[in-house]
Amino acid sequence: QDQLIQQSLQATQQNETQRILQQSLNREKELNQLKSQFVSTVSHEFRTPLTGISTSVELIQHYLRHVPDNLVPPAIGRHLQAIIRKVQSLDELIGDTLTISKLEAGKVEVHWEDTDLVAFCEAMMEVTLGERADGRRVDLNVEGTPVRIKVDKKLLGHILLNLLGNAFKFSTRNPSLRISFEEHQVALLVRDEGIGIPADQLDQLFGKFFRARNATAYQGTGLGLVICQDYTYLMGGRLEVVSEEGMGSSFTLTLPKSVPDQEPKGDWQARN
Ligand code: ADP
Repeated sequence: QDQLIQQSLQATQQNETQRILQQSLNREKELNQLKSQFVSTVSHEFRTPLTGISTSVELIQHYLRHVPDNLVPPAIGRHLQAIIRKVQSLDELIGDTLTISKLEAGKVEVHWEDTDLVAFCEAMMEVTLGERADGRRVDLNVEGTPVRIKVDKKLLGHILLNLLGNAFKFSTRNPSLRISFEEHQVALLVRDEGIGIPADQLDQLFGKFFRARNATAYQGTGLGLVICQDYTYLMGGRLEVVSEEGMGSSFTLTLPKSVPDQEPKGDWQARN
């Protein structure tokens, strides 16, 4: 009888622990959702005046085109360009903050689409190149037998644009993209021969707002890779880096050939 009492006591304790755990998980979810709502409202409030500033700068630039050059001090053009850059970086920061708060609140859903990966990567390369005017290209090569796989195009597109964007930003040479179709997975390797990442800072690379000491002169938010890593995780993949300071960096994104049975959920914060 003692044993029975003992067992029933244990069961009650387990139930109680489970209930408390569930309660605190629900509370955390609620708090994350409130935070996400707050970030979303504040972000929209920030974006409205930023749009106003951009429009005003464009109007000033338009008027200046009609004023004879000798009447416009050259410093004005430089200051206007500086305002444009600052507005762009604030806008990027707001966009990334919004995305991260959505991820934290578990609000990012994966929409799988059957995709011709090579064509998709080529399209993303075009988008990246369209944003640049320095004549550089991406060297593409494909290994193995290309097959269609299911990915979320929005998430994958975001990751590729970010990795390629960084490969251009932190290097003066052409970056390369290698797509390898392996037995069970596809590996996308973005490689550059740029500034690389200091060895003692590599372990912080996927942390929020991380910017390496050799990258402070470059524009950026330090949030891009956090988002890339989470998007990769949502698609059941992995994102890994190999880098050497002064030599370059390689980011490998590995995706399963078949859609994972169950989408990874929930432990966003545990991983960050
Ligand atoms: P951002 O580029 O906006 O700063 P990221 O999250 O994409 O944000 O990158 C974080 C930091 O990681 C960068 O500031 C830089 O220090 C480092 N980094 C990322 N990609 C590269 C790269 N290809 N080469 C060198 N450093 C990189």
